[in-house]
Amino acid sequence: LEPFVENSDEEKTKEVINQVEFDNTELMFHLKIAIETSTLDVFFQPQIELNTNRVIGFEALARWELNGSFIPPTRFIAIAEKGGMISQLTAIIIDKSLQQFSTFVSSIKQSCLSINLSALELSQSDVPDLLKQKAAEYNIAPSRITIEITETVLLEKNTLSLEILTRLRLMDFKLSIDDFGTGYSSVNMLQNGPFTELKIDRAFISSMHHSIQTWVIVESIIEMATRLNLRIVAEGVEDNATIDSLIRMGCTIAQGYVFAKPMAKSELLTWLNDWHKIHNISLKNDKVSF
Ligand code: C2E
Ligand code: MG
Ligand code: MG
Ligand code: MG
Repeated sequence: LEPFVENSDEEKTKEVINQVEFDNTELMFHLKIAIETSTLDVFFQPQIELNTNRVIGFEALARWELNGSFIPPTRFIAIAEKGGMISQLTAIIIDKSLQQFSTFVSSIKQSCLSINLSALELSQSDVPDLLKQKAAEYNIAPSRITIEITETVLLEKNTLSLEILTRLRLMDFKLSIDDFGTGYSSVNMLQNGPFTELKIDRAFISSMHHSIQTWVIVESIIEMATRLNLRIVAEGVEDNATIDSLIRMGCTIAQGYVFAKPMAKSELLTWLNDWHKIHNISLKNDKVSF
């Protein structure tokens, strides 16, 4: 496999320009319009089962293009949270990701969709009911939808999020701890929350071949997750050596630029056809539909 890093230099330059060009007040103003006009979009990044090369899932990642450049989601989500717009933003992302996923899900029978939520969103909104309603609207079983939770803020009302997590599990949605190891209380979340999956943060994956400490941490996270019966996903895999190490450590699912960057739906469908051809994976009679 060749690392798949298209336009990365160009994108980096654009981001730098962005940070110079827009301050937070300007971004908040433009974001409000983008939310009102629903011009935010989602990209999808495939998740690969390492021992079969099958595409078994897609992570939906929010995208916002302003004056021809992409604003990083970490930045505009923080602004939406600050500006009290996060529940509207979340509603748009949930609707668009489920709608688009529903148009290609039938061609990849076993695949799942992962959606990101911050712990803050979880403590504030009626996300479970919205998800349930949208899953029904687009005819997707909740068991095929994974909610990835990132803890970017230290939550005081922890009980509320725990209650919401439990409601989501009772509705049969899957729950993932995103960026495991970097949050405020990853292990605490793991101990108390009804999680089904753990995602090892890219920071660990990218430095595991350069640091013996990181190597041991990754190995231990995989062992712990396996013993806790959790699905493990390695994020940010950029080279084949890392794939080999992860397989040897018992990690079965990965995503990263070595396979594919996040893509708009049309690009994803082309990528899927190519991927299945290259790896000689038959989709039986179910062609990827355009
Ligand atoms: P995340 O959920 O941990 O998503 C993974 C991030 O790593 C994505 O960045 C993805 O593009 C990037 N990535 C994937 N593979 C590689 C790789 O091999 N190398 C490198 N260098 N990067 C890789 P992105 O799309 O910029 O998103 C950043 C973060 O923003 C996400 O981290 C997530 O926490 C947040 N985010 C994105 N979309 C949403 C959303 O709809 N809602 C919420 N609440 N947060 C979101
Ligand atoms: Mg994520
Ligand atoms: Mg992550
Ligand atoms: Mg991350």
